[in-house]
Amino acid sequence: MLPSHVRGADTPGLREDTIGAVLDEAARKWPSRDALVSLHQGIRWSYAEFARRADAAAGALLQLGLERGDRIGIWSPNCAEWAVTQFAAAKAGLILVNINPAYRSTEAAYTFAKTGMRALVTAAQFKSSDYLAMLEEIAPTLPALRTTIQIDGPLRPGHLSFEALYEPGGLALPRDLANNDAANIQFTSGTTGLPKGATLSHRNIVNNALFVGRGMGLREGDRLCIPVPLYHCFGMVMGNLACVLHGATMIYPAAGFDPGAVLASVEAERCTHLHGVPTMFIAELDHPDFDKFDLGSLRGGIMAGAPCPVEVMRQVTERMHMREVTIAYGMTETSPVSFQSEVSDPIERRVASVGRVQPHLEVKLVDESGRIVPRGVPGELCTRGYSVMLGYWDEPAKTSEVLDADAWMHTGDIGVLDDEGYCNIVGRVKDMIIRGGENISPREIEEFLFTHPKILEVQVIGLPDPKYGEAVCACIRLRAGEACTAEEIIAYCGDRIAHYKVPRHVQFMEAFPLTATGKVRKVELRETLIRELSLVTPITA
Ligand code: AMP
Repeated sequence: MLPSHVRGADTPGLREDTIGAVLDEAARKWPSRDALVSLHQGIRWSYAEFARRADAAAGALLQLGLERGDRIGIWSPNCAEWAVTQFAAAKAGLILVNINPAYRSTEAAYTFAKTGMRALVTAAQFKSSDYLAMLEEIAPTLPALRTTIQIDGPLRPGHLSFEALYEPGGLALPRDLANNDAANIQFTSGTTGLPKGATLSHRNIVNNALFVGRGMGLREGDRLCIPVPLYHCFGMVMGNLACVLHGATMIYPAAGFDPGAVLASVEAERCTHLHGVPTMFIAELDHPDFDKFDLGSLRGGIMAGAPCPVEVMRQVTERMHMREVTIAYGMTETSPVSFQSEVSDPIERRVASVGRVQPHLEVKLVDESGRIVPRGVPGELCTRGYSVMLGYWDEPAKTSEVLDADAWMHTGDIGVLDDEGYCNIVGRVKDMIIRGGENISPREIEEFLFTHPKILEVQVIGLPDPKYGEAVCACIRLRAGEACTAEEIIAYCGDRIAHYKVPRHVQFMEAFPLTATGKVRKVELRETLIRELSLVTPITA
């Protein structure tokens, strides 16, 4: 029987360029082509203009005293300045730290301090987040953070305006950056309580964007609609960087996800491609005015980030005309993509598997003792090759828990490989919830809820949800003599944790199902609740 061990093609070769060099090349090859259209900001920049802005901002960041290897954060919803910062930081040799715009002050302060962040580019506010107020609250605890650059809104004293970065007078840009240097830190929730900063090099993400773009059939002159968040690799690598490498246009429909704005932007900008996590495609297909939009320009795009329901893929191919849509599977720690279906794969394969291994990567599926399982048998997916992160920032012990001595990244995902090398993701070893593409560590929420005075014990699990894929469920045992309601728990979460981590279900219980050694059986807890609440689990790729 064939072992579950596959290697991708070794042609075309890997690129050995920095992110800055890739943008310079795009500006040389396609100066007048649209690079970036940000509809909610009324911005339309050619590649020449975009590169000019990135260069100016890079020189200005150095002029401000930032030095090679310094960490610069970005805390903002999608906007043109996000993309400028992405390329400017890389050109200046700085390490960009992506901060989830839904983070509240404690979550943000943790990531700022962890990375020793010296500068921050921030939006003024978005939805219920007042970034400037949160910054004011946490700044005294962050002595390293010396420069804050404000993207929008009336300029607060002590901050610099983003526009000022475009003024002449910046320093010369370094010419000797190495593509193996760290370029980016992306925080991701693993199985342990706090988020960890996956540190990626220029080489990691340039090559992933290159092969993801090829895999989805992205060509010069294509127009990619990017409603996925830029702070995540889906937006900044599979979106922005893939466009720059392939001469396509980045199109931002809105600051945050808005299905109506996505459909309108596809029509208005004649987008050829559209990215999304399953939840986004579900919301777009479900939009009351769906039939009023002309989506005839669409050809393809990528669905990824969470298990992709086969039925949603079918509808995307038929009702959204995305006949070349592909599924990608990966994780932040692998830059992110390691499997992708190809445009040329038969439709059955394309909607019902995550495709085959990407070029230059090696994947094996292993059992609990680390032995490679035969094809058709589920095993933990391990990835090796150019895409594997440098490590978790300032967390050597956590890094060695997932990256072994032979350079395999243990993903914590369970896959099955068939004889032709197509993969299905069938579960997770790691205790993680994915709600609408957003990863959530149950431990983090458990630790937070535990601070509630009435809670004796709490277990957080994911339950199937038709809209978000999974929804957070908190199972709670109260202290003796206490009474409490679900509303009380939800109100307690209020402004203290990011909105997507707030439980959708709150279940009060007398006892949890336990193993012989006294550990809570989360799987059993989940199955019981699925039955009791009559929830349905969809078939996914
Ligand atoms: P992130 O690091 O945020 O990109 O999340 C990575 C995790 O999302 C993976 O480890 C998987 O558990 C899940 N994931 C990503 N893409 C897929 C997919 N196509 N199918 C199933 N799960 C996926």
